[in-house]
Amino acid sequence: MNQPTPEQPADTVARLRATFRTGRTKPVEWRTGQLRRLRAMLTERGDEIAAALHADLGKSTREAYGSEIDFTVREIDHTLDHLEEWLRPESAPVPKHLGGDATAWTQYDPLGVVLVIAPWNYPAQLLLAPVAGALAAGNAVVAKPSELAPATSAALARLLPAYLDSEAVAVVEGGIPETTALLAERFDHIFYTGNGVVGRIVMRAAAEHLTPVALELGGKSPAFVDRDTDLTVVAERLARGKFLNAGQTCVAPDYVLTDPETAAALEPALAKAVEGLFGSEPKESGEYGRIVNERHFDRLSALLGSGRVAVGGGTDRAAKYIAPTVLADVDPESPVMQEEIFGPILPIVTVPDLDSAIGFVNDRDKPLALYVFSESDGTRDRFAAETSSGALGHGLPLAHLTVSDLPFGGVGESGMGSYHGRYSMETFSHRKAILAKPLG
Ligand code: NAD
Repeated sequence: MNQPTPEQPADTVARLRATFRTGRTKPVEWRTGQLRRLRAMLTERGDEIAAALHADLGKSTREAYGSEIDFTVREIDHTLDHLEEWLRPESAPVPKHLGGDATAWTQYDPLGVVLVIAPWNYPAQLLLAPVAGALAAGNAVVAKPSELAPATSAALARLLPAYLDSEAVAVVEGGIPETTALLAERFDHIFYTGNGVVGRIVMRAAAEHLTPVALELGGKSPAFVDRDTDLTVVAERLARGKFLNAGQTCVAPDYVLTDPETAAALEPALAKAVEGLFGSEPKESGEYGRIVNERHFDRLSALLGSGRVAVGGGTDRAAKYIAPTVLADVDPESPVMQEEIFGPILPIVTVPDLDSAIGFVNDRDKPLALYVFSESDGTRDRFAAETSSGALGHGLPLAHLTVSDLPFGGVGESGMGSYHGRYSMETFSHRKAILAKPLG
């Protein structure tokens, strides 16, 4: 039987642009209608998406719903609750030289056809939350899921056209050749989540068309642990944030920075916390995920030699399993401290004091997140004032990204642009200045 020829990227973009030009995506009713359909897809077909996430990353159903499906539903609900208010024109004061009868205001215009490129680690959430933002802003969207999460990519390629307006939303599956072909086209915005090497490729391609980009990248997010903190609580929160999705989370605490005495006390506390989360045999726990593929398994296994194994350390290549691992006595020059770990290995690096900890952070690339565990207002204030990061979390890793009213994004090497809630709508819109002076 002859397979239908897949649509070429240029034809997909032209078809979506033609839809955008008709004005169909602009009315707020179309936008909220699409968001409700996307919500229906997540609630009616959530189990299919969860099964795909399990196939790709060994995610438990609970984790699939918590960190991907329900997360996106909450983001959509927040947008539906506030979209009309966000879109309201804002008036601006008019200077005297224009006379008393002139008025000025701003209005949010959709940009046109936007491209969303997603990574494999939260392959549903990181595709669908930006798509929701692009639709809320009234755009047509090309969605490119990650080829490294093939089951989720296939599920979304099947479900999205069945639920959304397929003249305005298209899914293009594939890897480097397909993405390269898409990037040759003119888009009105490109929203990329992934690593900085590809981020640069995306930005270069976008420059050809003067297309604005949001780059949601990663990096090494430090966690500073002050002396005299409750290490049972700290260890529990660190372990939860680090070992969710087997450490393959862009805002996971990458390494711990603390003084030598606290480091020694933190080791048994982390061992206990890991056991509390996954039992004494994490491999047998249905709640603990797997490494996405052999390439990443090999990369991570090689990092296990960067310090003394204080917790975990076990691996099984056939099962793509790496135990939740804590490395102690880690030299800042060792391999594990050179690049984002993006896996279940938590190194503890010691520094003599607070000044050295702040210096350590500032000597390196600006991270996507910085976590501070301290009872001291002075210490917390110093990190806020003296360091730069996409976000700053006091006492609780990861949670900032569940607050829809906070912008989520990086700075410097961890990216540019932000989204979630109102910030998604702003990212995918142009704020147009309007001045009106009566002719009389
Ligand atoms: P990935 O390999 O899935 O790549 C991301 C996307 O880029 C995919 O859709 C892929 O097809 C595309 N791509 C890959 N190579 C390309 C090329 N040469 N040209 C064009 N497109 C290409 O995911 P990844 O990059 O391994 O993701 C992990 C990284 O993403 C980590 O650094 C992590 O911190 C970061 N991340 C950031 C966030 C965030 O919100 N800031 C979220 C998740 C992951």
